[in-house]
Amino acid sequence: MAHSFRGGIHPDPHKETTAGRAIEALPAPPTVQIPMSMHIGVPAEPLVKAGEHVKMGQKIGDTDAFVSVPVHATVSGTVKSVGMALHPNGARVMSVIIENDGQDELEPLARAMEWQMMTQDEMIALIREAGIVGHGGAAFPTHAKIRSALGKVDAMIINAAECEPYITSDHRVMLEYADDVVAGIRILLRIFSRIRCIIAVENNKPDAVESLRRAIGADNRIKIDLLKTKYPQGGEKQLIRAVTGREVPPGKLPADAGCVVFNVDTVAAINRAFTQGLPDIQRVVTVSGSAITTPKNLLVRVGTPLSALVAACGGYREEPQKMVMGGPMMGVAQFSDEVPVIRGTNAFLAFSENEDRRVDDPVCIRCGRCVQVCPMRLLPTYLYLYASHDMWDECERMHVADCMECGACTFECPGSLHLTQMFRVAKAKAMELRRR
Ligand code: SF4
Ligand code: SF4
Repeated sequence: MAHSFRGGIHPDPHKETTAGRAIEALPAPPTVQIPMSMHIGVPAEPLVKAGEHVKMGQKIGDTDAFVSVPVHATVSGTVKSVGMALHPNGARVMSVIIENDGQDELEPLARAMEWQMMTQDEMIALIREAGIVGHGGAAFPTHAKIRSALGKVDAMIINAAECEPYITSDHRVMLEYADDVVAGIRILLRIFSRIRCIIAVENNKPDAVESLRRAIGADNRIKIDLLKTKYPQGGEKQLIRAVTGREVPPGKLPADAGCVVFNVDTVAAINRAFTQGLPDIQRVVTVSGSAITTPKNLLVRVGTPLSALVAACGGYREEPQKMVMGGPMMGVAQFSDEVPVIRGTNAFLAFSENEDRRVDDPVCIRCGRCVQVCPMRLLPTYLYLYASHDMWDECERMHVADCMECGACTFECPGSLHLTQMFRVAKAKAMELRRR
């Protein structure tokens, strides 16, 4: 029986155009722009200067901070400049621009291939050295997640739900790189000895389940759980609830419910680091939406401009009115496609005008649909009321900090209220209040 959680919505999946199409490898572009901040935590400091030659995989940025990861060159070539450049988050951040020499001269991770002889500590250190972050979008440093979960968890959940509309990159990874996924899980099972592993897949991907089953073979430490196809099934708290029946308490982490969750493409990246010595320098990106001529999944180097991905998909079929990095529910709106793919980029979507739902006079008709769909059991209609009157302490009292910004309430609202956007502001204000 497929598992699930309370609430959620059923948006049109829009996955059919890319789910059945094999991943295409995009040649590395002439120039890559690599931001020093592609993760949650402290940005890396550049380690290279303009004019230096770098190899693919060479570390070009790092810091001593615990919640951080090093950054690597994704091509071999010459550093053109080190300075501020436009980031997909809309800000200008410290970045290294490298001119590709087309040689792909690799500097592999030191000691990667000897991992069977490594201690637990050395293995986690290698995951940090590889710069691996969560590939589901949040980009939290994986080594920090592992260290904070060690000794507290008895279940490892591999998040293969991919519940956001349009995105199929994880689906294709499960079909085409299932062996990498399972090998990555086995590496993690060596770090977290004596825990069980559950790969959680939505029941609209039977071919992916079959592919994973083949890769798992007789390994009874790994099982597959089917989830109902529902958004946001891939949210960590919803996933844990659906798979184990456990609740993550408000303000707490999955480890507090005895679980650690990794995205399915993250574990494939872990396998590449340990078996090929390859840091986190590439990823599969879904390029889709009504403004894209031929939607595809592309394997690209981090630092490739989004415009190069669009060109590989035949360009825009019409002028896009809205561009999003990530999914339509939780992605980040873009005003330019001249920003780079970063480690957390799982999709780039471009939409034409007729899909825009903006209205001039949004109004609440008190239908209660937002309350029914909220997976965090919040009261969006009241939260909106308080937030629109700057009553931030009331918002905090009503647990606005638990809002995962999934967008389900906004999607469902017949009054077209900008609920999620308002809660994003309210969360920041409530946090500021608490700090004071
Ligand atoms: S955006 Fe926040 S309030 Fe709205 S449904 Fe998601 S968790 Fe609930
Ligand atoms: S769904 Fe929209 S219109 Fe209905 S109660 Fe919630 S905020 Fe109001």
